[in-house]
Formats: sequence, structure tokens, C-alpha cells
Amino acid sequence: MTITKILIANRGEIACRIIRTARKMGIATVAVYSEADADALHVEMADEAVLIGPAPASESYLRGEAILDAAQRTGADAIHPGYGFLSENPDFVEKVEKAGLIFIGPSAKAIRAMGLKDAAKALMEKAKVPVVPGYHGEAQDLVVLAGKASEIGFPVLIKARAGGGGKGMRKVDAQADFPAALSSARREAKASFGDDRVLVEKYVTTPRHIEIQVFGDSHGNVVHLFERDCSAQRRHQKVIEEAPAPDMPDEMRAAMGAAAVQAAKAIDYAGAGTVEFIVDASEGLRPDRFWFMEMNTRLQVEHPVTELITGLDLVEWQIRVASGEALPLGQEELSINGHAVEARIYAEDAGKGFLPAVGRLVHLEFPDGDIRVDAGVREGDEITPFYDPMIAKVIAHGKTRAEALSKLAGALGRTEIAGTVTNTAFLAKLCRDADFAAGRLDTGLIERNLASLTEAAPAPDPIVALAALAASDMVAAKAADDAVGAIGPFEIWGAPRRRVVIEIDGAAQAFQVERRGARHFRVSGAGLGAGIDMEAVSAERHDWAFRTGGVARRCRVAPTDTSVAVFFEGLTHLFGKPQGSRSDDLAAGGDQVVSAMPGIVKHVLVAAGDSVRSGDPMVIMEAMKMEMTLTSPRDGVVAEVLVAIGAQVTDGVSLVTLRAEADAA
Ligand code: ADP
Ligand code: ADP
Ligand code: MG
Repeated sequence: MTITKILIANRGEIACRIIRTARKMGIATVAVYSEADADALHVEMADEAVLIGPAPASESYLRGEAILDAAQRTGADAIHPGYGFLSENPDFVEKVEKAGLIFIGPSAKAIRAMGLKDAAKALMEKAKVPVVPGYHGEAQDLVVLAGKASEIGFPVLIKARAGGGGKGMRKVDAQADFPAALSSARREAKASFGDDRVLVEKYVTTPRHIEIQVFGDSHGNVVHLFERDCSAQRRHQKVIEEAPAPDMPDEMRAAMGAAAVQAAKAIDYAGAGTVEFIVDASEGLRPDRFWFMEMNTRLQVEHPVTELITGLDLVEWQIRVASGEALPLGQEELSINGHAVEARIYAEDAGKGFLPAVGRLVHLEFPDGDIRVDAGVREGDEITPFYDPMIAKVIAHGKTRAEALSKLAGALGRTEIAGTVTNTAFLAKLCRDADFAAGRLDTGLIERNLASLTEAAPAPDPIVALAALAASDMVAAKAADDAVGAIGPFEIWGAPRRRVVIEIDGAAQAFQVERRGARHFRVSGAGLGAGIDMEAVSAERHDWAFRTGGVARRCRVAPTDTSVAVFFEGLTHLFGKPQGSRSDDLAAGGDQVVSAMPGIVKHVLVAAGDSVRSGDPMVIMEAMKMEMTLTSPRDGVVAEVLVAIGAQVTDGVSLVTLRAEADAA
């Protein structure tokens, strides 16, 4: 069966990722989208796109019927589910196949076998795959479960059998805490999965999450593509993933690979899947200390690290296997090259308990260079509360783990996002965390080192001053195609002194910005004492260079209507502009526009009798290879223009006068 057109039943980065591979293979693509995603990147990238419903996933991306209808209408012959949404829904797979289409993923039967953690564990026990010791039987009443917990021995983990994404899980340290933990796990499980049945298992100490990527085809072949270590977790959710696992002994890799292949073979698995194991690393990695947790019967978020160390395209493999081809490579032909690390960038506030955030990505620049970025958004897109707030995945490859980690930290530092708060600084710190860098990792590492990982570095004074200067609009970066400002490194606007208000850590602070020469400013006010003298060297688009106290610095600056973001030394400093606040000119002879430096008058934009508003441009001067636009200090009427185009003026000369306030009224 040849696949010629794939409908992608997903959104965001994974939809874009699948479209890229399909295009490479010469296969046409169909996107589906909700009303909230009408302008989304995946819609733009696909050859065709079909609206399937309103924003909530339950009314769009989870509506199998609407998706099948879209496939039929566009003549797609296959459906790729991505991850999440319908990817592990066996009923959907059956409907797809009944409609005569190819589901790019495993059979409904295989998904069903692994769908519930209790049944999956029972099946794996039969297949002689080591499973986490515990109870996964029928009984659900408190007395039985509490009894099983003490037989297993505390600490134990209560898990929703239908769970996913770390939900419905509670660690219990002592018998006394068991009843409350059970009810709360049940409540969460019921709300998230509509199924409150749980299992209880031994909580493995010094746990590491190591999973094996497996691949099967419809001819009975199964291989593994080595391991990924996803031990860097927060609340049972993956934060940074890597391949291979640090300090993995060959013997253990072989044992885990064999167990994963055995698991896949037990369910006649075809396609991409991941067998997740929990490892007791209290005495290092040992081949007798790993146990099956669950199998994810789909492509995994972190699949790119496997792609980077194997040089393979897993989506291409998925498509080839779904078309009936045999696996492209056998086990002996697979090998590991170097080390790869992935970080998930989320819209969330690490300093506030990782509170999810939303917002429009008013400025977005991903790192260039030898770095892979899988993103589903572009500048101007909005992070809405309807879907997972993941913005992008940044993935680095190196010859060694240290090299890959260093590259990743650097790349995170060059990731510029304004408009919403993100976890990039937290991720970069984690890459450089002493324990993590040394490979001393387990799933508790982030929690143990949370204080240092989430510590907010206050913006240094020169950065605060720069933000105030940027917010004052007294220096405007030139756009490349800006004809008026084409001669100099930047434009200088407005009156010689302005008051500006910016928010630092949520508190509004007032600053005064004063122009003290062609390129020199003094910023004073809140916390800056007598002030900081700064020399603006250049400001082109987002690249600003300035000097303070003899030190020249280069930063990236992204001012918008609501904020000023300064990206400096790998950190994002975000300053809000309070609603309703504006930069006010401070009256410096309110009836006059005065030259602030020696120069030549290039344009005169007003004439006597003109009505002007505060901030309107009046005269443009050229001086010291830059243009300076002088603006009206207030609303009023022009009394007299005292200079003509071409006039050479010195510093402090009156150029235009306004009528006295009384006359103007
Ligand atoms: P992975 O194991 O691939 O790292 P995650 O567990 O982080 O994946 O989940 C991948 C995606 O699938 C996320 O977008 C998550 O929200 C979603 N997801 C995971 N489990 C479920 C589930 N049981 N129901 C719905 N969505 C889920
Ligand atoms: P989910 O379906 O939500 O991904 P998992 O069973 O894969 O659920 O568990 C999620 C995470 O919880 C694991 O990655 C691991 O960090 C932790 N975990 C699960 N089982 C155990 C266990 N028995 N002991 C210690 N940690 C565990
Ligand atoms: Mg899991």
C-alpha cells in the first residue's frame, strides 16, 4: 500500500515535525485545525487544511468523526495521530481502518493491551519481562489496597491504571497516609481519565527513568533503538531527556533492549513504541535493577534525541512500516553516535511553582547554529489555555555528554521569547547543575535542587537602565528599511527629559531618562540612586550596544506595547509597561523645541499656526551621523519656526516655539 497523502490528526510542533518528513518523502499533507488554530503554523505548512471545530480539544482534535470526514473529503489515504489526543485510542484506530485508511501507528489490539497499566503489567509478567513489584489485581477497596501496600513495604506509589502525563499518581511514605493519598489519587484519576481504578507498586529508591525506543514491522521484525534517560523530572513529568543514558553499562543496555523487544513481540507490535522502565540507581546502574512501568504505543515527545544519536528519521520509519515495508535496518546495523539532549520549553513560571502561562509571543527568536529546534509556533502566535503550553523543543548533539549539555545550555541562552514567561532560564540552569552535569541524576534531582534552579537573578542596574531607556522611546532602533533614519546607527526622539514607568518583579517603578549629549543619557530613579550614565553606541533592530562605567555591552532588546524584554548573557529580563502608563515629556521650557546637539536641520515638519499634539515630530536634525527627531513637548499651536532646512545650529538653540498656553486655549 503506497501512502500518497497523510492527514495529521494533531497540532503544534509534532504536526509540523510530521509534515516536514512527509514532504521530504514526496507525500502530500492535510492539516486539521480548531477555530483557535486557524492561523497556526501547522495549517500554513500543510498542503491542505480542514477546520474541525471550536477551540476545546473535545470539540475538535478529539473528534474522530470530524477527522475521518476531513480525510475523506481531501482524499487522504493515511492518518498520523502524533502524540496525545487520539494517538492511543484503539476505538479511533478501528474506525480509521474501517474507513479503509491506514493508521500510522500500532494495531488497536496492541494499543488496548498496553492501554491500562494493570493489564499491561500482568501481560508483561507472563512475557517474562521484569515488572515493578506491586499489586495490580481486581480489588479496589481501601482495606485490601492498604494491606497490599504494607506487604509491598513503604514507600509505595499509587497509580491510576488509566493514567498518563504523570497524573493520578501519589507516593505514600507510611501506612497512616495511605487512605488520604488513595482518595486523592482516585479523584484525580476520575477527573482526568474517567476511570478511578488504581494499582499500587513499590516506590523504587534513587529512581531513574530509562526507556527503550522500539520499532516493529508487519513482518514480525522488532528492533530497539537504544535507550533514553528521562530522569530529569518534575512531578513525574519529563523536563530534559537524553540519549544514551549517562554511565549505562553495555551489559545493562543489552538486557534492557532485549526486555523491550520481548515486550513488543508479546503484543505483535508494529510501528514506533517506547517501553518505559524504572531503574533503581542506588548502587549505580545494574542489569538486575530495572522494571517495566508502562509502554507508550506512539511516537514520543522526546524521540528527537534518538534520531540524533542514530542518524535516523523515526517518522519516516513509521510511514514506511505503515505502508507495509520491512524495517529499514536490522539490530546489528544500528549504533549510537555521540550524545543528544532535549529540553522542553514551556510557557510557565518556574519562580511561581511552574504556574502555566499564556500570552502572545510578541518576540520569538530561536537559536541558530548546530542546534535542532522543533517548534509549532512563530512570532506573533498565541499560547492559549486550550492546549499543552509547550512552545518548542531544543535539541543538541555532541560527541560527548558534556559537549551536548554545554551546547544546549548555550542554545537556551540564545532563545529569545517575549510576551509570555518561560522556563528557559530554569532549563539552562539545570544543564549546568553540578549534579546533573556530573550524571548524578535521579527523578528527585530537580526537587532537591529546586531553590537554586528557580532562583531569579535580579536584573543588573545597567540592564534596568537600558530597559528604562528603551521604554522611554527616546532611542528608537532603526528598521532596516527605514528611509528617514537611514544614515545613522539609531534615531533619537523626543524631548530632552522623560519620565517612564516600568514594572520590575510586578512593582511599578518610575525612572527619569535625560539626554545629555548626542549619544549620552542619564537614567535615574527607583534603585538607581543618582543615576547611571550610559552611552548608546548603536541600536539596530533588536541589537543594542551601549556603554556604562567604561564597560560596553551588547544585548538584544525587544520593546512592545506592553513590555520591554532585554536578553543578556543568556537571561531574559522582562519589564512590564503598566496599563495606562505612558512616557511623559518633562517640561524643559514647555513652549520651545530646542536643539539637543550641534547639527544640521534636515526636515522641518511644521509651520506657524499648525496644531500639534505632544510627541508630534517637528524638526529632524542630522548630527554626528545620526538623525534626531525633535518632538513637541505638549499639545498646542506652533507660534513660530525659527530655522530652515539646511541651517547649521549649535546645542541649545530654539528651533520652534509654541503659543503660550493661554493664547492656545
Ligand atoms: P512522553 O511520554 O512522550 O514524554 P508525555 O507523557 O509528556 O509524553 O505526554 C505527551 C503528550 O500527550 C502531552 O501533550 C500530554 O499532555 C499528552 N498526554 C499524555 N498522556 C495523556 C493521556 N492519558 N490523555 C491525554 N493526553 C495525554
Ligand atoms: P505516566 O503514564 O503518567 O507516564 P508512569 O508509570 O510512566 O506514568 O510514571 C511516571 C513517572 O513516575 C516515571 O517516569 C517515574 O519518574 C515515576 N515512577 C513511576 N513508577 C515509579 C516507581 N515504581 N518508583 C519510583 N518512581 C516511579
Ligand atoms: Mg510514562
